[in-house]
Amino acid sequence: MAPVYFTPGPAQLYPTVAGHLQTALDKQVFSQSHRSQAFKDLYQRADEGLRALFQLPQDYAIYFTGSATEIWERSLQSLTAQHTFHLVNGSFSKKYLDHAKWLGRQAQVLQKPFGQGFSLAEIQVPTGTELLTITQNETSSGVCMPVGDIHALRSLFPEPLVSVDMVSGAPYAALDFSQVDMAFFSVQKGFGLPAGLGVWLVNERCREVAATLEGQQYTGGHYSIASLHDQYQQFQTPCTPNVLDIYLLTHVVEDMLAKGIDTIRQETEAKAQQVYAFLEESALFAPFVQEKAHRSPTVLVAEVMEKPAAEVISHLKAQGLVVGSGYGAFKEKQIRIANFPAVTEQEIDRLVQAMRPI
Ligand SMILES: *Cc1c(COP(=O)(O)O)cnc(C)c1O
Repeated sequence: MAPVYFTPGPAQLYPTVAGHLQTALDKQVFSQSHRSQAFKDLYQRADEGLRALFQLPQDYAIYFTGSATEIWERSLQSLTAQHTFHLVNGSFSKKYLDHAKWLGRQAQVLQKPFGQGFSLAEIQVPTGTELLTITQNETSSGVCMPVGDIHALRSLFPEPLVSVDMVSGAPYAALDFSQVDMAFFSVQKGFGLPAGLGVWLVNERCREVAATLEGQQYTGGHYSIASLHDQYQQFQTPCTPNVLDIYLLTHVVEDMLAKGIDTIRQETEAKAQQVYAFLEESALFAPFVQEKAHRSPTVLVAEVMEKPAAEVISHLKAQGLVVGSGYGAFKEKQIRIANFPAVTEQEIDRLVQAMRPI
């Protein structure tokens, strides 16, 4: 039996991927020109599916890039001249901050220890901030920011543009896009697709700021918001895009819509509940994130007591269950379990049954 991947990206493929891939090969989709009507129709179909899945407000546009990492950089280039503010509580949120520093922005930060989230009361965004960056789900530590808290920041701090990294939370996270200005993800996490595509959701307010900065400074070249939007209006891209992933994403999003996003969310919560309940009662494992409201339903991090984490990982691997190692310095002591939509309730059940007797 093929192993099941509970790794937080690349992750288990969504169950319908293989069928869609074969259909695309049969139809020779990957040889068609990206300037053809067939590609424009595909982009439009992807756009319609993603709009429905995320309940996007009318003014949002959807752009494709090579990765989420690229969107960190392009968003800073297109939307800021000087002042940025970053909520940092793990490795991915820190990388967004690093990109701002590399670009010479005056980047300010509120930093919390690894494994902790933010309380609204402690967040003070300085006046003059152009972009506030939030990582909705910290894949490194298993901490999430409840979407209600993200929405509340808009009324507390109406001035800055709000950017949400939802790479390992989408499509589970029920973000209200009218309360933020842009969000993004890459497809090898919650969408269960091969890596190599970033998806950038951008509102009108961002485009206005980008238009003001365009011409005053380098705004990110061919993948600037201005350039992407210019092409987007014809469902085109500035360069040859990852048609393979765009095709698969289009079809997987439609499969998710057919299943129902509410069902996907309920299943995600039920599966997460089962794993956290086990971690709490187990003598060998414990949930790493203490604050329950900040425990991620999509990337669950467990501390391993008494044994090296590597031993647990290889024990599970021998049974065809592949879990992720702890991030960076936490490699020895933690495991990470991705609970994305591609993983079924039965598979989570198998994992918990296999962890119990260790
Ligand atoms: C994986 C990840 C990224 C980076 O995605 P790439 O596709 O590798 O660029 C960014 N943010 C978060 C939260 C992630 O989990």
